[in-house]
Amino acid sequence: MKAIRFHDHGGPEVLRLEEVPDPVIGPGEALVRVRACALNHLDLWQRRGLRRVAIPLPHISGSDVAGTVVDSKGGDLPAGTRVMLQPGVSCGRCLACLSGSDNECPHYEVLGYRNHPGGYAELVKVPVQNLVPIADSVPFVDAAAFPLTFVTAWHMLITRANLQRGEDVLVLAAGSGVGQAAVQIARLVGARVFATAGTDAKLERARAIGAAEVINHHTQDIAEEIKRLTNRRGVDVVVEHVGVATWAKSVRSLARNGRLVTCGATTGGEAGVDLLALFSKRLSILGSYMGTKAELIRAAEHLFAGRLTPIIDRTFPLAEAGAAQQRLEESGQFGKIVLEV
Ligand SMILES: [Zn+2]
Repeated sequence: MKAIRFHDHGGPEVLRLEEVPDPVIGPGEALVRVRACALNHLDLWQRRGLRRVAIPLPHISGSDVAGTVVDSKGGDLPAGTRVMLQPGVSCGRCLACLSGSDNECPHYEVLGYRNHPGGYAELVKVPVQNLVPIADSVPFVDAAAFPLTFVTAWHMLITRANLQRGEDVLVLAAGSGVGQAAVQIARLVGARVFATAGTDAKLERARAIGAAEVINHHTQDIAEEIKRLTNRRGVDVVVEHVGVATWAKSVRSLARNGRLVTCGATTGGEAGVDLLALFSKRLSILGSYMGTKAELIRAAEHLFAGRLTPIIDRTFPLAEAGAAQQRLEESGQFGKIVLEV
């Protein structure tokens, strides 16, 4: 099969289109013909190299995949079934897995991250329990753009922050993958959404997908704007993933009993906390990582019904994975960048 691999860490130029052996499936695994694979920041970090995590080389990235089943050993989905893939791979036998918290499995891995070659390829293998059949009405590009960001945002807002109808939510960087998913899920719950972005064009798009108020995080002070827009009250929930660049403003934007939920630190993770504000305003700071298989299936029902729609920035052919990653690296996008295979 053809695949995009890197043999060394570095810039987008290390990505090479190569002929590689087809994956061989074992018991309990399925082989999937990839039709679309969405990009995530995780792809950039593993390509550049990580301080604490060794990536086996050469490596095939790609955590968000949609395609058709070619063959499977176990499971009941016949060849040709249209599927998207659960990006979380877990053991299926441990206490965490059997309690439905498979994202807390000690053996948890993300597809395309370390030991599971991903979807920047014509074929990928996954455990059969990672196959999610998709409705015929959902294009492969949309299905590929859905799993990782929507399951992450769902776990953040619904499970961790326990978002309620009528609450106020601040979503940082609404043009990012997690941002556009969080805006839509918060709207679905019936919350009022405040969103930030870095350009006027992105702010317009944030409004179009459901933000009631928008803030330019380059030219405006997020916390001051939130105070002004909420009559000095602040918001009930902040969706963070930007990190040190926005952290202090995010904490300052919280109302009494507010919850800050974070799934990332794109600009760096060394942030402080004002403990006086933390205890006197009874704030909660919640960490969140990925989401469970059950949450993805629940969120997917809204995808199939048209109530959640991943925003596609643009698509690239597989061979242009380097250019696609460069676009993500330059933060020029609104929504997901997807490779068509
Ligand atoms: Zn497990």
